[in-house]
Formats: sequence, C-alpha cells, structure tokens
Amino acid sequence: MRRNRRVKLIATLGPASSPPEMMERLFLAGVDVFRINMSHSSHELARQLMFDVRSVSRKYGCPIGVLADLQGPKFRLGTFAGERVDVPEGSVFHFDRNESAGSSSRVFLPHPQIFDGVEPGHTLLLDDGKIRMRVVEARDDRISAEVLVGGKLASRKGISLPDTLLRISPLTEKDHADLGCALELGADWIALSFVQRGDDVEEARKLITNGAAIMVKIEKPSAIDDLDAIIAAADGFMVARGDLGVELPVERVPGLQKRITQAARAAGKPVVVATQMLESMITAPVPTRAEVSDVATAVFDGADAVMLSAESAVGEYPVEAIQMMDRIAIQVENDPSYATLVHATAILPQPTSHDAIAAAAHAIADTVKLAAIVCFTATGSTALRVARERPGLPVIGLTPVHATAQRLALVWGIHSILTSDPDKLSDMVRKACRLAFENGFVRPGEGILITAGVPLGSPGTTNMIRIAYVDENGDAVGGG
Ligand code: PEP
Repeated sequence: MRRNRRVKLIATLGPASSPPEMMERLFLAGVDVFRINMSHSSHELARQLMFDVRSVSRKYGCPIGVLADLQGPKFRLGTFAGERVDVPEGSVFHFDRNESAGSSSRVFLPHPQIFDGVEPGHTLLLDDGKIRMRVVEARDDRISAEVLVGGKLASRKGISLPDTLLRISPLTEKDHADLGCALELGADWIALSFVQRGDDVEEARKLITNGAAIMVKIEKPSAIDDLDAIIAAADGFMVARGDLGVELPVERVPGLQKRITQAARAAGKPVVVATQMLESMITAPVPTRAEVSDVATAVFDGADAVMLSAESAVGEYPVEAIQMMDRIAIQVENDPSYATLVHATAILPQPTSHDAIAAAAHAIADTVKLAAIVCFTATGSTALRVARERPGLPVIGLTPVHATAQRLALVWGIHSILTSDPDKLSDMVRKACRLAFENGFVRPGEGILITAGVPLGSPGTTNMIRIAYVDENGDAVGGG
C-alpha cells in the first residue's frame, strides 16, 4: 500500500472506528497508525482492537503501527451532594481530605500528593480550565483558593495544577496494569501522559522490556521547562494540544508546537501534532477553513504525523476526516513552497556514522537525481536518520523485523517493507532494486541509493552506500 504523501496519519480508535470493517476502510483511506486510548479501553477491548489491526495489516501485507496511550496521573475531585454546584467568582473555595459529599464552598480532593506540592499563588484549573482559582492558603489538610473565573462544577471533574511540580510517579496503578496489557499485546508505541521531567521517561523505560518505543505527550508546563531532557530520553513526542491548552494559555500553544516540532526534528525523533485538528468533522462532513490551515501548518513544519482524536473515535465522519487529512497533506507536500518551508531551519548532521551516511545519501540522491533511498535496517535507526533529512524522494525501509516496520509506520516519509536479510552484497542490490520496482518507487532506467551495514544482517552497523540502476524487468543493471 503505497501512500502519496510523507506525513503519516494517526486515527484514535473508539466506537465510531472500532468495527473491523470500519478499521479497514480507515486504513484504505490513509491511516498509518491506530491509537488505542487506554483511558477508554478495557483490556479485553484493547486485545480485540489489536487483533483486528493486525488482521488488516496481514490482509494487505502492510505494516500498521499501534500506539497505546496511557491515561497518566489525571486528578479528579470527589463528589458533590447535588448534580452540580455553583462556584461564584470572588468566593473562596476549599479542597480538603474529608470524604463527605461537597458543597458550593468545599469538596473532597482524593490526592494527597496535591496537598504536599501546592503553594499559595499556584493556579488551579477545574473542568478543563473552565473554572480558574488561585491558591490563597495551603495547609496539610486543606487548600483554600480564590475563585477567579467561576461557573458550575459537577462531581469527579478534573483538576489541573499548571504551576505545581508534583512528586508523583508518571505511571499510576491503572497505567501499570494498562502498560502490562499493551506490552503483552505487542503495541509498537507507548504514549505517556502528563510527563513532568526527563527522569519520568527513564522510570517508565525500566518497565518497557520488549523494545516498544516511548512517546511522551507534551502537555505540562513542567515538561516544557525540562524539554531538552525529555527530548533526549524519549523516542518520540506528541504535541498534546488539548491538555497543553488547559495548563497554559491557549495562545502559547502554536509557538510551543513549533518549538517542540523543531526540537524533535533536530534530535531525529518523530513528533506528532494532535487534538482538534478537524474538530468540526465530529459532526460535519467538511472541516472549517481554519482547521484545514491548522493541518497544513503541521505538514509545512515537517511534523512526522498528524492525529485525529474524537473525529475518528466518536465522530460521525471518521473516513471523511482521514480522507481530508490525506488530501491536505498531498496538496501541501506538492505546494511550490513546501521544500523551502520544511527546510526553513537547517537540521545539521550530528557527528556519527549514521548521520554522515544519511546526509551523504540525501546529497548523492539529489545530485544524481535518483528515484528513492533504500535502507536495509534492523533497528530502524538508519531509516530514522535518513528521514531526519526530510529528503525530497521516497525513503524505503527494508527490514526482517515486524516490530521495526510497525514502529516506523509513524515516521515521516518511510515506507517499510518486510523482507529477509540478503546473504551477500549482490543479493542486497538485487533485492533493493526489485522491491523498489515492484512497489512503484522506481522505473526502468532510474537509479536508487542503497544504505546497508556490512557484514550484512548485523544491527547498528550501517556503513555502506551503493547506487544501483534498474532495468526494464525491475532487476539491477549488471546483476547487482
Ligand atoms: C491531548 O491532551 O491533546 C491529548 C492528546 O491527550 P488525551 O486525548 O489523552 O486527552
């Protein structure tokens, strides 16, 4: 299944997209990676979803990635006596450790860590930021806050603390159980929510023993403060604009989106732009012009992937939403200004052999006007470094490792093909030419650039570049 674009598309699974026939339609419409949101999926459902994704993948012989998104430490209030209470602006509201039902002046807060971390002056955001308070007193057993923006508050609504560094593990008890399930099912990417520090990633990595990659959702001000360490520690990133826009003023989100995208691209690690991309398509068959522009901006910025959340999980038009993203991506990538904009900031090679090979591959392919770059890759790292260059020609990752192909499904520009390792150099050239030809990436008379590690089949040794030309039968000119 050859896509006509470089940016990848992620669809969140939910009632609107989970039936197997719908999943297949979504894949055919352009989905490269499915996201299982563990906040809303039982383990039984996750198992079924994984089985169905892998079935579609097998049916079309095409790797599809699965991203299991852990809920993370999401804090909620206790309950109120009535349906909801009115919390007026200018009043003082108390959060305490008393489990009884709350009123318009107090509520139970079942999270001891918040009492430990919060200080006077900190902001409290309730119900996705609709209600805003400032802490005036923080005692061991009670937090008192002045209501800056009031409103109606219902039981178990979320509470966010953008200024407070909480001494908590990035994984809750539920996350531990969900992570165990996701790893057992073979999820390719694990997304961590509400990460605060680079150390959180290190802690989670100790639990991920099967090679699944870690994606950090950037959605906390503290994560922005520790961005360099987080970028160094994780394998990929999501600009989780929903919670980021609750914890920080929404007008800061676009600038942060650019900063995170740039930092991830410089590190050569994939970055996903997420949330409300085509929000109006939850209920309408066409998006707003502003939403189209938003998706286009992420593509022009060189993000690896753009993601649908509610649009595909519960929306009325999941297939139309993916088709729309596909069309926007193709249009943008063929726009005369795309090459200039995607390379607007120079991403220089780092002093490693992988980067030297990747930069050289890009330069040679451009100079000689080759049709594709073909990377033999076991771990995916060579293909990743080539994709980091954002070359103007297709990048094909040839790998014998299913997990590698599935993980690379999320990465800009990489078309992965599963194939066994070649035995000798001539086999390697023949295989690269044939697969590039059969998959429509090269025509007779055109050339490809091949990267590989010699001795063949040893992971992490990429040290070779080879140019080969394809004859009228799809074989390597001169036999390889
Ligand atoms: C977000 O907050 O933007 C996000 C992607 O996370 P979730 O969907 O889990 O709220």
